Amino acid sequence: MTAPAACEPQDDALRYTVAVRALCEFTARCGDLDLRYTPAPTALEGIAGHARVAAGHGPGYEAEIALQGRYGPLRVRGRADGFDPALRRLEEIKTHRGSLARHNPGQRALHWAQAKVYGWLLCAARGLDALEVALVYLDVDSGQQTVLTETHTAEALRAHFDGQCARYLAWATREAAHRAARDAALAALAFPHPAFRSGQRELAAQVWRAATAGRCLLAQAPTGIGKTVATLFAQLKAAPGQRIDRVLYLAAKTSGRQMALDALAQLAGSGGAPVPLRVLELVARDKACEHPGSACHGQSCPLALGFFDRLDAARGAALDGHVLTQARVREVALAHGICPYYLSQELARWADVVVGDYNYWFDGGALLHALAQSLGWRVALLVDEAHNLVERARGMYGAQLPPELLRQARQSATAAREPGVKRALAAVRRALAALERGMEGDYAVHDGLPAPLAGALARCAQVLSEHMAAHPEQFDAPLLQWYFALLQFNGLLEGFDTQHALIDSQRAGPRQPCTVSLRCIVPGPHLAPRWAAAHTATLFSATLQPAHYHADLLGLPDTHGATEVAAPFAASQLQVRVARHISTRWAHRAASVTPIVALLARQFAAQPGNYLAFFSSYDYLDQVAGAFAAQHPGVPMWRQERRMGEAAQRDFLARFTEGGQGIAFAVLGGAFAEGVDLPGRRLIGAFLCTLGLPQVNPVNEQVRARMQALFGRGHDYAYLYPGLHKVVQAAGRVIRSPEDRGVVHLIDDRFARPEVRALLPAWWRVEGG
Ligand code: SF4
Repeated sequence: MTAPAACEPQDDALRYTVAVRALCEFTARCGDLDLRYTPAPTALEGIAGHARVAAGHGPGYEAEIALQGRYGPLRVRGRADGFDPALRRLEEIKTHRGSLARHNPGQRALHWAQAKVYGWLLCAARGLDALEVALVYLDVDSGQQTVLTETHTAEALRAHFDGQCARYLAWATREAAHRAARDAALAALAFPHPAFRSGQRELAAQVWRAATAGRCLLAQAPTGIGKTVATLFAQLKAAPGQRIDRVLYLAAKTSGRQMALDALAQLAGSGGAPVPLRVLELVARDKACEHPGSACHGQSCPLALGFFDRLDAARGAALDGHVLTQARVREVALAHGICPYYLSQELARWADVVVGDYNYWFDGGALLHALAQSLGWRVALLVDEAHNLVERARGMYGAQLPPELLRQARQSATAAREPGVKRALAAVRRALAALERGMEGDYAVHDGLPAPLAGALARCAQVLSEHMAAHPEQFDAPLLQWYFALLQFNGLLEGFDTQHALIDSQRAGPRQPCTVSLRCIVPGPHLAPRWAAAHTATLFSATLQPAHYHADLLGLPDTHGATEVAAPFAASQLQVRVARHISTRWAHRAASVTPIVALLARQFAAQPGNYLAFFSSYDYLDQVAGAFAAQHPGVPMWRQERRMGEAAQRDFLARFTEGGQGIAFAVLGGAFAEGVDLPGRRLIGAFLCTLGLPQVNPVNEQVRARMQALFGRGHDYAYLYPGLHKVVQAAGRVIRSPEDRGVVHLIDDRFARPEVRALLPAWWRVEGG
C-alpha cells in the first residue's frame, strides 16, 4: 500500500505492518515545529551511548528486545532499547547533547509515546500486569544520565496502544484504498495524445523496459519529441507491475519542474475518469517561506506555532485533492495556519509522484532518499536534463573554508567573550598560516590535509558543537556559517580519496590568506549508493554523448543501459556552418572580434530575423557586442547582463517575437543557453563563438590529470566533453520542431576537427568542416 511508513499489505486477517517509531511519528507528534539547530550525536555515538546505558545495569539486563503486537488487521513491531527485570523497568534510551531543558514538549511527548507502546508490547509478550516505563537521556559529552519514569498498569498501556493504532489504522485503510485505485488506474493509463511523435514511442518503450528490468538507463533523445511526457507515461505505466511506491521526477531547473507538472496533469486526465495520482511539487525553502526574516520555531514564526497540532487536518485537506503544486500547498497550509514549506515536506511521505530538484535525492542529507531508506519505499527515478548532474553533484560533495568566513567567526567569538571558542578558531588560523608559509606559489595541491590543520579543524568542530549545545543563543550568523562549513568539510574529509577528489589551497597573491577547498571531481562514489537505493532510474537529456563519460562520472552500475533516440528532424532544416578562418582561443580573442562582427552582420543581412550569439565570457561578449553596435547601429541588439534577475530574464526572452528581428548576445552555459524554448521564427539562428571548453587553469589541470589516471582520457573528460555539451545545448535552441528552419554558425577552426565533429548531433550536416 502507498503510504504509511513501513505499512505493507499482508494476508486478509493481518493487512498492515508498521514500525513503532513510524506509528508514533504519525500519531504522537504535537506542539510546535522547532528546527533550531542543535548538535546531535552521530549514529556511532548513539550506538555507543546505548551500550553504555546497558553496561550500567546488572547481568540480567536485556537489550534490543524484538517485540510485536496486533490491533485488528494492524501489526506493530520494533525493538525496545532495554528491559531491567530486577526493576521491572522498560527503557527507551535517547542520546543527546546540551541541556535537556531545551527539548521541546512535543519531542518529549513523542518519546513517551514510543516508550509506552513498547511497554504494552512487553506486557503482552510476558504477561506482566504493570510496568515501570523509563526515558533514559544520556548526554554523550558529559556522560550524565537523566532518567524519567512513569508506572503504568498493563491495561493503561493497552488503552494507549489501542488509541494510537486506531488513529493509524483509519489512515492506513484510506491509504490502502488510494493505492489500489491508483494502481488500477495506472495499469489502464492511456497516452494523453492521439499519437506518439517520432522517437517518443521508442523512448517510452526503453524507459518501460528499464523499469521492468529494475535497472538504470541513460537515454539521449532530441529536444522537441516530448521526453517529459514519454518518460513519465512509461514509468507510471510500469509502476503497478513493479510495485513502485514513489516516482521521483528530479529536475535541475524550475522550467523542468513545470514541464513535468504539465505533463502529469495531462496524464492524470487522459482516460475516461481522472487518475487518482497524488502529485507533489517540492520547492526550496526560500521560495516557500512566508516569514523570511523569522527562524523556524514557535517563538519566532507564527506558522511554526502549533504546527503538529494542526498538521493532521491540513494533511487530510491537502490529500483530498491530487495535484499539490506549490500554490495549492500554500493555500492549504495558510488555511490551517501552518508553514507551507514544512507541510510540503510532510506531504512527501504520501505523494505518488514527487517533482523536485536533484538535491532532494542526491545530496548528502537528501529528504526523499532519507524517507525512502527509513520507510522502505520502492522508488523509480526520472532525472531530467541529466547532463547537469555531474556539475551539480560536484557542488553537493565539495566544501570550502574561505578565510573571510573564519575572520568573521573569530570576530563573533571575540565579541561574545568566549575564550574556548576563540582559542579553537585561533588554532585553525595558526594551522592555516603554517600551510600558507609552505606554499611556493598561489596554488598548492595536497595529498591529504596536513595533520596539524586536520587536527585543528576537528578540535574546532568539537569545541563549537559542545559550546553550541550549552549556549545556542551565542551563535550568531557568522559563527553558524563557519560551523556549518566546517561540518561539511570535516564530513567529506572522512571519506576523502585522492583519486576522486582534490584538496587544494589557493590565494589571491603572496601574503594573502588562502582558501582551502575539498573538490569533488568524480561524484560517482557518492552517487552509486543513490542508484542502488532506487529500483530503477532513467537519466535523460538531449546531450548525453558519450554515454561512458556520464556513466563513469555518475557512478552508474555496470548493469545500466544506454540508448540514443534518433532525431525527428531532417538535415535540410538546419544549415550548420563552420567558420574555420576564426580562432576564439584566448590568445586570438582580440583578432577574432572583427571577423565575428562581419559574420554576424552578413548572416543578419542575408536573413533578417532573431538570432542568439553565445560567448565564453561576459568580457568576450562585451568586446564583440561593443564593436557590433558601433559598426551596425541599425541592427537591433540586446544582451545578457551579469547577475540578471528573473524579471530581466523574462524581458530578454520577450524580445524574441514571431516577426521580430535582432541579435541577442549571451554567455554559453548561462540562463539562455538551455531550457529556453523559442519555436518557429522566434529564433532562426545561433552563433557559437566558442568551443565552450573550461578555462585552462591549475584546478582544471588537476581535474585533467585525475581523469587521465582514472579513465585514460584526461583532456576529453576535463575539457572537450563538458564544452561540447554546452555548445550542443545552446545550438539546440534553434530547431524545436519538425516545422522549424534555421542556421547555426560554429565559429572556431577546431569545430572542423574529427574528434569535435563526432560529438555533434548525428542528424546535422556540417558545411565547411
Ligand atoms: S514560514 Fe518560514 S520561518 Fe516560518 S516555519 Fe516556515 S520556513 Fe520557517
